[in-house]
Amino acid sequence: MRLRHIRGAEESIAASPYVVQNPEEEKGRWAERFGNANPIEIEVGMGKGRFIMELAQKHPDRNYIGIERYSSVLLRGLEKREQLELPNIWFMCIDAKDMADYFEKGEVSRIYLNFSDPWPKDRHAKRRLTSPDFMKVYDQILAEDGVVEFKTDNRPLFEYSLEAIPAAGWKIVRHTFDLHHSEMAEGNVMTEYEAKFSAEGKPICKLVASR
Ligand code: SAM
Repeated sequence: MRLRHIRGAEESIAASPYVVQNPEEEKGRWAERFGNANPIEIEVGMGKGRFIMELAQKHPDRNYIGIERYSSVLLRGLEKREQLELPNIWFMCIDAKDMADYFEKGEVSRIYLNFSDPWPKDRHAKRRLTSPDFMKVYDQILAEDGVVEFKTDNRPLFEYSLEAIPAAGWKIVRHTFDLHHSEMAEGNVMTEYEAKFSAEGKPICKLVASR
């Protein structure tokens, strides 16, 4: 995502009633924050948040947390959030590599990775959200039957992930190289990037991984 710093973004995030301000205090207590014990699903790198807010509207019986590390990007999501009545979603402005500081083991039921930055250079492979280092973080917070769902238009990143995820000890439960023309399309909710790339005719890849 092209990043332009927006003046005052940090201050707006710090004052927002939709953003969890001290997430380390919530570790093991998310059910209290949501006021129920519904399953918790996280999107890592939510961007402007179209996907996670649509999910929250569709599934009032689940809880959602959108994670975005850049305040200028999260700010765009907050503008949309202000127009919606949604009791089942929170946002956090954090780096996903630190998620185990904010969630107890088993506290999360599903993690969505959508159109994650590809980091094509080998020396940056550790930054990919499907790298073994990140899979280890997800392992620390997901329930035993928890899953990771990953969508991308980037074929090299997808092929890397099909190898890296099993190498990290996970199973690829399902995958497709053309989501919108596969049986995995049922119930699919599009992200901002997905809408843009599929309008350009690019096939969308998706995998679901579990342990
Ligand atoms: N998921 C959205 C979509 O599909 O439209 C946005 C995709 S955008 C290419 C990827 C987003 O992930 C960016 O906003 C980036 O800042 C965020 N991101 C990348 N690495 C992250 C990390 N380690 N922690 C939190 N956010 C991250």
